[in-house]
Amino acid sequence: MSRARQPKFAYEPDPHSARFYMEGLVCSLNSGPYRQKIRRLVELWTTSGSSGPNLKELFRRKPELEKKMTFGTTILWPTESGRGYIEWDPGPHPVKGALSWEEHAHIEFAFLITNPMWWKLAGPCDRCGDYYLKKRKGHKRFCSQRCGSATTATAATRKSRERRQKLKILLAQKVIDEIMARIPRFAQRIAAEIDAKKPRPELKKLKERVASEVSRRLIRMKNLRGTRASGIPEEPCTVKWLTRALNKRKLRIRAM
Ligand SMILES: [Zn+2]
Repeated sequence: MSRARQPKFAYEPDPHSARFYMEGLVCSLNSGPYRQKIRRLVELWTTSGSSGPNLKELFRRKPELEKKMTFGTTILWPTESGRGYIEWDPGPHPVKGALSWEEHAHIEFAFLITNPMWWKLAGPCDRCGDYYLKKRKGHKRFCSQRCGSATTATAATRKSRERRQKLKILLAQKVIDEIMARIPRFAQRIAAEIDAKKPRPELKKLKERVASEVSRRLIRMKNLRGTRASGIPEEPCTVKWLTRALNKRKLRIRAM
């Protein structure tokens, strides 16, 4: 197949069929019985060039695929104007109606690579993983506005959670420092406990105190801000949360 071939004409399917085949391909890619097989071919094709498909490069890497795609059957569909449209099937298929899924996948792939609308195929969607047809050229991440805005919403939710978490850390650290400064013997006893690596009743006492004080201040902040309180953590500060923050070294107990 390495012999250079010069095309004499560029035949195309009629625009209606072209669109119909692209829509069919999307269905096969998302839910067809040979979904995995056609996805594999499309993935190879999409990644064959440095910035999108490069059919020559794909065939150079997969000569057996080129062999399957090159010769086939053409069908002429006449129209009521002076021209007819060509449909091309990479057969020949010996027994009609008994095609394997592999052959089905190859036929659809051939319809894609000879389709004037090939560039419309996009996917998989960053959120739902579906393939889809895009309206304009260029890179697109999502199949629909629904998937796009759902992901933006998730990112926004994460950001605001991080902001609330940060506020809670700052507040807890402030309360810890205040208690340590007010009751220096607390700090001494806790330091001794940590060195001894034994059960730590003093540390537990400190955490309980900090947890209730932080929770109390959070409620007060919420009441003060009223309707604009969205940046303030909803849930109270717990001993468990403090333990986790201390273990992750987000909080520190320092002697004042
Ligand atoms: Zn999607």
